[in-house]
Amino acid sequence: FMMSPVQEILNIQYSFYAASAAVGRLNSLFSMKEETRYPDNINPFAGGEASSIAIKDLHFKYGDNNKVLNGVSLSIKAGEKVALVGASGAGKSTLVNVLLGLYPADKGMVYFNDVPVSDIGLDTVREHVATVLQSPALFNDSVRQNITMGRTYSDDAVWNAVRIAQLEDVIIAMPKKLDTIIGRAGVKLSGGQRQRLAIARMVLINPSVVVLDEATSALDSDTEYHLHMALEEYLRDRTTIIIAHRLSAVRQADRVIVFDGGEIIAEGDHDSLIRQDGLYQKLYAQQI
Ligand code: ADP
Ligand code: MG
Repeated sequence: FMMSPVQEILNIQYSFYAASAAVGRLNSLFSMKEETRYPDNINPFAGGEASSIAIKDLHFKYGDNNKVLNGVSLSIKAGEKVALVGASGAGKSTLVNVLLGLYPADKGMVYFNDVPVSDIGLDTVREHVATVLQSPALFNDSVRQNITMGRTYSDDAVWNAVRIAQLEDVIIAMPKKLDTIIGRAGVKLSGGQRQRLAIARMVLINPSVVVLDEATSALDSDTEYHLHMALEEYLRDRTTIIIAHRLSAVRQADRVIVFDGGEIIAEGDHDSLIRQDGLYQKLYAQQI
């Protein structure tokens, strides 16, 4: 007789603590400052063409002493394809994050079409500079929703993106095609399929600048090869930065930048870098 109400009170107490922890987390979310560092008044991407990128003497460190970018300067012409290679931990992804304005630089500046990123709204940057990461964020929703991100596109446009991303066969084989639910964080897909979904998402966005950060690392080299061939035309008039571990994925780049310890240590095309006795030659030798 007594036990059951006592048990109930204990349960209520437990629910109360769980709920107050959740409220605490929500409060810290609600009290976050809004991201209005940059005024959203200049849009250098308004013309819709590829954008040039100028990186001038960029310095960045995490916390107080973990210096990751040590004065990076790099000019990328509109429509140029630049590959960024280097050992893991060299600072490549950090450079991308600073480029997108996700982290403010300690010193130096990034310019899109000669407009400093500090004069461009972050929303504008994210709308026109599409980034595909190694582990893309996916949602427990349909393939279609994950590709369109809730915006409206014609079926033709979605299938076209799917085709470029080398996913057509995969999706045709799914029970509900584009309406198949992919599970929490896309658990029902393989790592390579998740990455290709993110590529399809990028294709639909129609960006001026594309950044692929180890975006095809989980694909077998055959699929990766076909994907890069299919992307070639899509990327023709877009400024592109490709970070890839497998050097076969960067061979089509107009220029290869070798990154080490937060600095650019060499640049050139594949053939000239391969002849120099340096890090690129070493990375290449390791892979063949
Ligand atoms: P890469 O992409 O070339 O592998 P990263 O830019 O990811 O290199 O990392 C460069 C360095 O910065 C590494 O030493 C890494 O440990 C450190 N780093 C990366 N992200 C963070 C972070 N969010 N906080 C602290 N240190 C980080
Ligand atoms: Mg990285």
